[in-house]
Amino acid sequence: MSTVKIAIDGPAGAGKSTIAKEIAKKLGFTYIDTGAMYRAVALRAIESGIDTKDVKGVCDILDDIDIDIQHDTNGQVILLNGRDVTLDIRTPEVSKGASDVAVIPQVRMKLVELQRKLASNRNIIMDGRDIGTFVLPDADIKIFLTASVEERARRRYEEMKEKGYTCSFEDIKKDIKYRDENDSNRAFAPLRVADDAIILDTTGNDLEQSINTVQKLIKERLK
Ligand code: C5P
Repeated sequence: MSTVKIAIDGPAGAGKSTIAKEIAKKLGFTYIDTGAMYRAVALRAIESGIDTKDVKGVCDILDDIDIDIQHDTNGQVILLNGRDVTLDIRTPEVSKGASDVAVIPQVRMKLVELQRKLASNRNIIMDGRDIGTFVLPDADIKIFLTASVEERARRRYEEMKEKGYTCSFEDIKKDIKYRDENDSNRAFAPLRVADDAIILDTTGNDLEQSINTVQKLIKERLK
C-alpha cells in the first residue's frame, strides 16, 4: 500500500509546526519537524565550542553526531547522541546557529538522508524549508505557509513568553529577518516555493482558521 506524504514549507514563525502537528493528530499521520534536526546539529556545535559559521569545524564533528526522532504522547522527541534535547534546542542562540549550519551542504545531505528514511514507510506530514523542493519532491501535497515578518515575530514572541523565556520583540524580529535572509539566499536547497505548491498567507488569520484551511486543502487533494 502506498503511503501519503504531505510537505509543509515556509519561513520561520509562519505557524508550520503548530499547524502540521494538529493536522497530523487529526489524520493519524506521523509529524516530522525537520528544523529540530538542524537545531540539534547547532546545539552540538555550540556545546563543542565550535562557531556555527565555521564550516570546517562543523563538518569535522558531523560523523560524531547521531540524531534520532521518536514520538511520545506530547509529540516529537529529538535525541542527540541518545540524549533528549527537545527543549534545549529552542533557545534563541540555537535558532540562529541552526540557520548557520543549514547553509552547509554536508549537514543538509546528512539530515536529508535521515528525513527521507523516516518518510519512506509511513503516512507523514513533514515541515521545513526544502521539503517540497528537495527532500520529498514527489510529495502528494505541498503547502507553502507564510505571513508578514511583523506577524511572524509577534507570534514567536507570544509563544516564547508563554514558555517562560525572557526575550524582546525587537530581538525576535531581528532573528526572523536574519534567518529569512540566510534560508532564502543559501546556494544549496534554499527556501523557495515549489512549482506545484499551494501558497497560503496566514497574515491576519488566527490559528484555528489556518488549521481549518490547511485541513480543507488536504481533504480536497486526498479525495
Ligand atoms: O523550523 P525551524 O525554525 O525550527 O528551523 C531552524 C532552522 O533550520 C531554520 O532557520 C533553517 O535555517 C533550518 N532548516 C532548514 N531546512 C529545513 C528545516 C530547517 O534549512 N528543512
